[in-house]
Amino acid sequence: QYVLYGDQIIKRDQASIDMEDRGYNFGDGIYEVVYIYGGKPFSMEEHFKRFAESAAKLEMKLPYTLETIIDLTVKLIDANKIHNGIVYIQMTRGASPRNHLFDRESSCLITGFARKMDPPVQAQENGVKTYLTEDIRWLRCDIKSLNLLGNTMAKRKAADHGCHEALQHREGTCTEGSSSNLFIIKNGTLYTHPATNLILNGITRQHILTIANEENVDVTEQAFTTDDLLEADEVFISSTTMEIAPVIAVTGDKKGTYPIGPITRFLQKKLKEKINQPTVL
Ligand code: PMP
Repeated sequence: QYVLYGDQIIKRDQASIDMEDRGYNFGDGIYEVVYIYGGKPFSMEEHFKRFAESAAKLEMKLPYTLETIIDLTVKLIDANKIHNGIVYIQMTRGASPRNHLFDRESSCLITGFARKMDPPVQAQENGVKTYLTEDIRWLRCDIKSLNLLGNTMAKRKAADHGCHEALQHREGTCTEGSSSNLFIIKNGTLYTHPATNLILNGITRQHILTIANEENVDVTEQAFTTDDLLEADEVFISSTTMEIAPVIAVTGDKKGTYPIGPITRFLQKKLKEKINQPTVL
């Protein structure tokens, strides 16, 4: 297995991370996950645009141009001969004597790995159960940072209740999943939380909004409550690795079940079409 270390593709067992890498000590870093379908990364440009935005929000300097980072990512995918799978790229603020104060000029370290993975067809077809719980995360969820404890704790809680994903709410306002965005459909209208500091503006979320506009599905980026969630006609979650997964049940702070509805199925089909379009690179 090959990994990306700086601008080099090396064997995984030859890579080493400094004990005082800021990513390791402070979670001082960012990442992206891109899905590879049939050897081709999907929405790579969009992912790396967000990567650059996360870096800018944290005042981290990219060590190479985005073009170079994308080239290195393609090399990493090819070196590992990934047909279907994911590529993970992260950037930390690098190694320096441990100190909360960061230096804006630090040279950042980019690393990455790739892994084979088949799309989760079962979840896409049959839907997933979810666990509704309080959103205890910080107030910059728009940054795709390495600090994911709020998310990992929510996911653990969901799994402990036999659920695939946690749905989070702040005092009754639904935000997003632990690693996905959340949508509901009520009376033919699609609702999702606006892209504020309280959610990650998912690349899949953005594709869904574009599709909805193209296909004349009524859509509004408007926050909704946990009561609205319960009363929804259809619910689904979206992410790079899941695409669109119908939600069939909610438990936890509120309890309800949902059928897998026609709008969810329609959006799933349209997203698949987008994924399967021959990419012009
Ligand atoms: N929200 C959170 C908290 C996530 O971790 C993810 C997965 N990266 C998403 C939303 C979905 O984003 P994307 O569609 O870009 O994978």
